[in-house]
Amino acid sequence: MTDTAPLFDRVAIVGIGLIGSSLARAMAEYGIARQVVCADRSKDACVKAMELGIVEMATTEIEVALDGADLVVLATPVGSFAEVGERIGPHLAPGTIVTDVGSVKQAVFRDVGPNLPDGVHLIPGHPVAGTEHSGPEAGFASLFQGRWCILTPPTGADAAAVEKVMELWRRVGSTVEIMDANHHDRVLAITSHLPHLIAYTIVGTASDLEDDTKSEVIKFSAGGFRDFTRIAASDPVMWRDVFLNNREAVLEILQRFTEDLTALQRAIRWGEGQQLQDQFTKTRAIRRGIIDAKQA
Ligand code: NAP
Repeated sequence: MTDTAPLFDRVAIVGIGLIGSSLARAMAEYGIARQVVCADRSKDACVKAMELGIVEMATTEIEVALDGADLVVLATPVGSFAEVGERIGPHLAPGTIVTDVGSVKQAVFRDVGPNLPDGVHLIPGHPVAGTEHSGPEAGFASLFQGRWCILTPPTGADAAAVEKVMELWRRVGSTVEIMDANHHDRVLAITSHLPHLIAYTIVGTASDLEDDTKSEVIKFSAGGFRDFTRIAASDPVMWRDVFLNNREAVLEILQRFTEDLTALQRAIRWGEGQQLQDQFTKTRAIRRGIIDAKQA
């Protein structure tokens, strides 16, 4: 296999939203598949995907998209995985690779795994890349450039299938990390899920303020609030599903966060400036580490 030879004959992307359409674009740009087709329950999304010219065929009938596919990518919200898994299972030929882009990984084994016939390789994945926008028009080919993609293959997964999925993400510009699904869900609970929950809460609190204060919030939003509004504009269905499907890890990290917040609350109340300064100095170093790692 040369670097430029297509990795797959026919890729079927289920869910042609922000991530699915970005992957379709990147696959075309880097010649990763001979053919990319998609299925989506939204007729509008299918029509749009065809208009944009990012897939060769778009259909609301999942079964039709699967015909002849050697790679199936699930790119719908995590809460739909059980239903999608049930629908695709009977139509998959042995040797097909099934992967996904879901933000939670243990749920994939729970909801998709049992629906797949013997000989089908399930290699779950999560590109740690995204925006607050949704739908096929929001996607772009360079979304995965310079980002991480975490794969969580099961123990004993077919090595060739894992390598193919790794190579796919490398070719679209990502660096791949292999991780246990449970570990992934715990790490992402702190790096992604909790920040979204905090943003949703702050923006929710602001929107409950009296009208005159609310207009000031918008006017002076540069003071930190604006960054939270971007995160809090993320897709409501996707994020509902993330919290419902990573419940234990999110609740555990939320408990620790609440304790730390209470400690800061106490420091403010008792005028313990040194404690506040120490904490803020520590967090500043983390920001510098992220910039050094080129993830800013
Ligand atoms: P999106 O833009 O909202 O697109 C999802 C698409 O899937 C929509 O067209 C939706 O149709 C369709 N869909 C929903 N349920 C379906 C079903 N049962 N069968 C077929 N199609 C269905 O979503 P996204 O932001 O690309 O997210 C997709 C996945 O990527 C999620 O699992 C998410 O956790 C993961 N992810 C997202 C990000 C991010 O920043 N957005 C980052 C990394 C990973 P309707 O419009 O009719 O619902």
